[in-house]
Amino acid sequence: MTNRTLISQTPTLVGQTVVLQGWIASKRDHGKVTFIDLRDRSGLVQCVGFKMMGELTTESVVSLTGLVKARPEKLVNLEILTGSIEIEVQSYELLNKTAELPISIDTDGKEISEEPRLKYRYLDLRRARLQKIMRMRSEFIRAIRDSLYGKDFVEIETPMLTKSTKEGARDFLVPSRFQPGKFYALPQSPQQYKQLLMTAGFERYFQVARCIRDEDLRADRGFEFTQLDLEISFASQQEVMDLVEETVKTAVKKVGGKLKTESFPVVNYQDAISKYGADRFDLRTEEDKANGILAFAWVVNFPFFKKVDKKDIAEVRDGKSGWTFTHNPFSAPLPENEVDHLAHKNIENIVTAQYDLVCNGYEVGGGSIRAHKPELLKATFEIMGYSEEQIEDGVGHMLKAFKLGTPPHGGIALGLDRLIMLLAGEESLKETIAFPMTSSGRTAVMDGPSEAAKEQLDELSLMVKPQVKE
Ligand code: ASP
Repeated sequence: MTNRTLISQTPTLVGQTVVLQGWIASKRDHGKVTFIDLRDRSGLVQCVGFKMMGELTTESVVSLTGLVKARPEKLVNLEILTGSIEIEVQSYELLNKTAELPISIDTDGKEISEEPRLKYRYLDLRRARLQKIMRMRSEFIRAIRDSLYGKDFVEIETPMLTKSTKEGARDFLVPSRFQPGKFYALPQSPQQYKQLLMTAGFERYFQVARCIRDEDLRADRGFEFTQLDLEISFASQQEVMDLVEETVKTAVKKVGGKLKTESFPVVNYQDAISKYGADRFDLRTEEDKANGILAFAWVVNFPFFKKVDKKDIAEVRDGKSGWTFTHNPFSAPLPENEVDHLAHKNIENIVTAQYDLVCNGYEVGGGSIRAHKPELLKATFEIMGYSEEQIEDGVGHMLKAFKLGTPPHGGIALGLDRLIMLLAGEESLKETIAFPMTSSGRTAVMDGPSEAAKEQLDELSLMVKPQVKE
């Protein structure tokens, strides 16, 4: 092990010999003298070599030993943190020689098309803009974790191989090798497991959860995304909203985000529709926009049910009666609508105990107080036209748990990718995800999905239908 010094420490080590390791960000060759800017995770420093380093290519990885020297006053560069010094290189070792780069990484990258950026994502991520976003993402999640740990939350993982979770999207299926012809579903969210953790008595759960939904791709959306998922027992709607608001504010401020208002306005769904024409609205002024302000608001009092959109396959499947849920089938109706809900009456006027968090025109989170009494959850599925058997098959396990000591509970999921996007002032979710999928649904760098070998298909008892070419 070499005794490595980080570049950020070098200004305090004038007169000392140090070992630095990193990438060659740039090189200027003047024949006898070669200057390189060396970069590591902590910063950038100028290194000077006399009659050496001419062979080095940019972005190569080196380990070098050199003397930290103060720069003469007129050569001090105030633009970089190490601008008061430079390194006089005594020796170096080339750890990885870099060939010509397929994409440039010294710009913000937005001039490069998606395909090469994602094919060489490991290079793309080296650019300063993406380094900053990924580090901010990590800091933001850490701030949320710290805040929730301080409030008695338990972080618990839930399964990835599971059964359909009914979030209103199409499931991703995984064939079972041991049970031919049967399939697991990847979780659209941890919804049911987190509710069962309330039955299990944890009272306060959270998870940085991966969710997978087979939805039609949009330019900025892939099949997987990350949610901050949480659930609380014995809390009113107001208490859940207050706790979430405080957690979001703390984490936003921790990473330097600026809030429009210290307290998030609460808007009725119907008012949002009549005032803004949508339930996700932007409360920022032009000046707020220019200053990178985040304008959060809550939306409440949504209708529980809506008429099925016949073009939406998942809706048609869920809403057998012609009615389907607007947000979450596991939500409770408002207490004053319980009688109608149980009687399947006035369906269009039943309001759900759902709250959405919006920010700058986007939905950044949604949650609800849940139906924790079996008859309420059952009624939801009856209203959607499910038969006894279908209800038993779909949510029988939940109905059973709700007869075995499930406390009243509610929670939320916040879209972390979206929040980071807004905090970073970016316009695409892909800029906040290390290895996002391409717009055509192929994975970054590794170019999935790919065909399965015949032996793999045999093991899974699967046959692929011949593809009809159009
Ligand atoms: N499971 C919901 C979702 O993924 C969020 C929640 O109600 O907690 O949208």
